[in-house]
Parts: sequence; structure tokens; C-alpha cells
Amino acid sequence: MHHFDYQAGELCCEQVPLRVIAEATGTPCYVYSHATLRRHYRVFDEALGDLRHLICFSAKANSNGAVLAALGRLGAGVDIVSGGELERALRAGIPAHKIVFSGVGKQAGEVAQALSAEILLLNVESEAELELIAGVAATLRRRAPVALRVNPDVDPQTHPYIATGLRESKFGIPIADARRVYERALALPQLDVCGLDCHIGSQLTSVQPLVDSLGALVELIDVLRARGVHLRYLDIGGGLGIRYADESPPTPDEYGAAVRALLRRLAAPELTVICEPGRVIVGNAGVLLTRVVYYKDSGHKRFLIVDAAMNDLLRPSLYGAFHEIKLAALADGANRPHGPVDVVGPICESGDFLAKDRDLPAVEPGALLAIMSAGAYGFSMASSYNSRPRPAEVMVDAEAWAVVRERETVDDLMRGERLPPWLR
Ligand SMILES: *Cc1c(COP(=O)(O)O)cnc(C)c1O
Repeated sequence: MHHFDYQAGELCCEQVPLRVIAEATGTPCYVYSHATLRRHYRVFDEALGDLRHLICFSAKANSNGAVLAALGRLGAGVDIVSGGELERALRAGIPAHKIVFSGVGKQAGEVAQALSAEILLLNVESEAELELIAGVAATLRRRAPVALRVNPDVDPQTHPYIATGLRESKFGIPIADARRVYERALALPQLDVCGLDCHIGSQLTSVQPLVDSLGALVELIDVLRARGVHLRYLDIGGGLGIRYADESPPTPDEYGAAVRALLRRLAAPELTVICEPGRVIVGNAGVLLTRVVYYKDSGHKRFLIVDAAMNDLLRPSLYGAFHEIKLAALADGANRPHGPVDVVGPICESGDFLAKDRDLPAVEPGALLAIMSAGAYGFSMASSYNSRPRPAEVMVDAEAWAVVRERETVDDLMRGERLPPWLR
């Protein structure tokens, strides 16, 4: 469910025609729907029912301050993977006690930053990291709240680049070693060993891998309990998929029901369940607006060359991902021959495409297109490759809209560059 619909032939975000935003801000431009964000958060929250839970939105899916603030208002916490994301979450007003820190390569400075801010939990991904955190905590004279991120060796059946719960992936502590690593953690007085964590991958389109991994976690919690270790947090990660094309991912309700069923078996009302959804909250809440620059027919292939590129939206190039593309004005496609076109950007790479062999009308230069489902891993993965300033970001709320990040400028791109003395 999202709030991007045609009204009188114009594609609107809530009550605002996308044309209006594109005319005012230029293109390419990301547009987020506040109503969609609210709805997705509420549906997810309600799906967990009376389970004691905390939803920590995965900031890497979309770390725009307005998006974080909007979710924060609804009660969301944030899952961060860097010191930069910690700063963003705090500045967006997310309380530190709702922030969890994941990631395989946390550095001492980032750990110190997190401990000083008094975040809820550090999800630890290796024994070496455990020792590093204990050392930093000792220096700061603090106790570090930690969960072990285990790797359950479950195939999430998703794109290999976003599968994280397989034995051969770099993430987490092998579940077979978890007991031993818990013993080590418990022996370090600087650590408050309070949680268990797992995140098996992204864009999951079935609950089964989640159920399998959660089953393994529940067993581990039982084993730890028998040893007298009573955890307070069970972080089950994120990963719930969305519909980009014809996928039918589980609904939040199906997901919530599966989680609740497994946890009922555990009968641990003192346990708070943490979820780290990213894509399912923000993916369909955003689009990327782009204008056609040229229509090109090479005789072998037809191209729409647009002003957005792989630097703005990397997912098609990186994962071969599919994003639906819609005309902002239906009239642009009227009476035009339809057929397979590649929608490509101006970047000097053949891997620079937004869609391949897509059935779209041969629209004129200037036509406005909306690349759908671009709210997650869109702007947050954008770069300035080819010295292309990153796009503006806009948020819509009913009839109102506001720029929530200005378009970058070429000056922004060159800030900090200087000639060495021998070239001056
Ligand atoms: C990326 C990530 C998430 C969010 O994944 P989604 O598929 O966007 O829900 C959650 N937890 C961790 C540790 C992650 O790395």
C-alpha cells in the first residue's frame, strides 16, 4: 500500500502532482510520502501485537533526517551501522535508548561514540569485536550493553549480495560457536551481556527462512537460560521484502504471526523483541523523478536516455533489480508506439541502466518519469560518480511538500580538494 496514484491523468504523491515538485526542484529528485511512511510503520507495529517490542528502523535503507524524524515521532528507534548513522539518528531526535548498533567492522572510535551516547545495544559480530568493546568500555569506565549476532546458516533465498545469514557470509558468529562466545563475554566485567541478535538478509519473500533462524535462536535462549543467563533483548533483524514487480512477500501480519507463535513457545515475557525493518517501511514510500533527455533508436535497440543514472539509483546496476517506471502524465504516452526500451542514464558505463527491455511508450524529451519503489537503498546508496551532484529529496504530507535535502552542488563535490604545493 502506498500513496502514489493517478488523479486526472497525473501521478500524484498524496495530493501533490509529481509534475509540480519536478518543476520546482528540478530532476532527478527523490520524493517520499509521509502518509505511506506512517502507514507502513503502524501496520508493522500492529502486526507485532502485544508482544513487548521495539522497532528500530534500519537507517541504511534511508538515512534522511526527515525520514528518521518522521519515524521517531511514531516511536521508532533506529538500527545504525556506523558512527555517521549514529550522529544522524541523534540529530533526528531518536532517543539513544532506542538505538542499536550493528555491523562487522565497528572501530574503536565508533564504539566510544556509541557508549558515550548510551545507546541501547551493540550487536557484536565476532570475538575480536567483543574484546575491542570491552577495552573501550574499560577506558571510558562504562559497561557496554551487548548482544551477540549469530549466523544461523540459513539460506534466505534472496540476491547473494544481500544474503547475510549463510555460513560463508562475513556476518555474525557461527551459531555453533555461540555458547562458547557467550561464556567469554560473560567473563568480561565491562560487558552487560543482555541480548541475542540475528539478521539473515534482505528482500525476503518467504517467512520460512526467518522461522528457521528464529527457531534456532529460541533453542539457544533456552540453553542459555539453563546456564542461568537471562537475556533481555532478542533482536530478530530486518529483511522483510516488498513488491517491486510480481513478488508476493509475506505481509507484516503473516510475519508478526510467525514471530509471535515462535516466541509463545519460549514463554519469556521479560524479553523485548527488537525488529530492524528498513525496506518494508520506506521502499514503497519513495520514488525517483527523472526527465527524458533523448529518445534514441539505434536500429537494434530503443533507448530512453534520462537525467537520472546509476549514481542516483544503484539497485538496477548492482543487483539487476527491477523498478516499475510510470509516466508522471498519462498524456505523454497517448498515441505513442509502445515497445521494449532500455531506460539509461548519462554515465559512461554500459552498466548504467535503470530498466532493460521495458514496455514503455516512445515519449518525447522532457517527459517526466517516476521510478517507483525507490525509497529504500536509493538516495542512501547514491554517489557523485561522473561528478554528478546527488539529487534533491522532498517529503510530501497531504497537500504540503518540502525539500528535505537540497540538491548537491558542484561546489559541494569539490569541497576539501586542493592542489599540492608542487602544482600551485
Ligand atoms: C540492512 C540491515 C537491516 C535492514 O534490512 P531490510 O531488508 O531493509 O529490512 C536490518 N538489520 C541489519 C543488521 C542490516 O544490515
